[in-house]
Amino acid sequence: MSKEKLKILCVLYDDPVDGFPPNYARNDIPNISNYPGGQSAPTPEKIDFSPGELLGCVSGELGLRKFLEERGHTFVVTSDKDGPNSVFEKEIVDSDIIISQPFWPAYLTAERIAKAPKLKLAITAGIGSDHVDLQAAIDKEITVAEVTYSNSISVSEHVVMMILGLVRNYIPSYNWVIKNGWNIADCVSRSYDVEGMNVGTVAAGRIGLAVLRRMKPFDVNLHYYDKHRLPKETEEELGLTFHSSVEELVKVCDVVTINAPLHPETENLFDGEMIGKMKRGAYLVNTARGKICDRNAVAKALETGQLAGYAGDVWFPQPPPKDHPWRTMPNHGMTPHISGTSLSAQTRYASGVREILECWLDNKPIRDEYLIVKGGRLAGVGAHSYSEGNTTGGSDESSRFKES
Ligand code: NDP
Repeated sequence: MSKEKLKILCVLYDDPVDGFPPNYARNDIPNISNYPGGQSAPTPEKIDFSPGELLGCVSGELGLRKFLEERGHTFVVTSDKDGPNSVFEKEIVDSDIIISQPFWPAYLTAERIAKAPKLKLAITAGIGSDHVDLQAAIDKEITVAEVTYSNSISVSEHVVMMILGLVRNYIPSYNWVIKNGWNIADCVSRSYDVEGMNVGTVAAGRIGLAVLRRMKPFDVNLHYYDKHRLPKETEEELGLTFHSSVEELVKVCDVVTINAPLHPETENLFDGEMIGKMKRGAYLVNTARGKICDRNAVAKALETGQLAGYAGDVWFPQPPPKDHPWRTMPNHGMTPHISGTSLSAQTRYASGVREILECWLDNKPIRDEYLIVKGGRLAGVGAHSYSEGNTTGGSDESSRFKES
């Protein structure tokens, strides 16, 4: 075990406004030890929390304080992440390790990295390290790791919920009940069955493939685009149609779901031009990253009817300012970024962060499947799914959330 005493800075979302801990709705969660395909769920030596606890907020501390302080390290947890006077920006200057979550991302820009000369490891508590300037991490030889697969299935469930919610017009119908109405015609004039529709995913990685598998029993026609083609057996088993470009896929699909990481190749992929190539009245579901879609183009397409609905839980920046058009555009089913931070998912990604820290502190290798950047280059999963570059540009707009 390394004797060096480190400072670990952890940025988590705020506690519930009704107080912490919440009154839990259930007493337990299922134990998931392996993911589809066989990868094992996190295997830390020990955890200091009960599965199912709220760990992703400030008081939850990812269940790490006892472990880190017993080893003599300094552990700072804050939700104050935006702007030059934030706790994050003050504490970063002598931090060795930074932990952040995509739901409430502490944007680790090149400017911030330049202020953190001791920084050696950036851990994403979840999946998707686009809030880190990966180019700067490569240049400064900072290791970037995330907890691959920890919440992929959680997100796929959210995608299915959102597809059904949009196509069947669930939220507006629910709202008629809340408004004491019984307005059946108002509800059903935008309500369809998904059966028989063409449903396609942009990217068929862990989440995309899980969405395809979950949509299969709805008797839809399944389509996908990915940089690498799935095995022939998988295509046959699910009856998949592969498209060689995103354009070819969107032309034929009634529902498109985006499940690719945000990196220079996918930033702004769904701009006005791409949305213009979709079928009129298509539905777009994006739980991948907000910046993959042009915010104004999405809002305009909903207003003109080019899109019948848009849903997802990822925005740019996060938190989005109060005047972000996705809060008020018609026919949307947005949630804040929650799909990958259910209590079930938190147990897995908190365990995964603990596993990564145990490895780092004990000089043991971090699993290849968790690595995004190592030794000045994209590594592990990162080398397969990401491209070099930076997608954090414009993230300082997140400080407007506090002002408005
Ligand atoms: P995976 O790495 O398993 O899958 C990503 C897939 O995207 C891979 O198949 C990869 O292709 C593909 N891909 C990469 N670049 C492109 C591109 N330019 N065009 C098409 N496909 C591309 O990750 P997950 O499925 O687990 O997660 C995907 C993303 O979802 C994450 O990166 C994250 O941004 C987001 N996410 C969101 C969460 C939420 O809470 N809303 C939680 C978890 C993840 P290949 O490997 O074949 O090169």
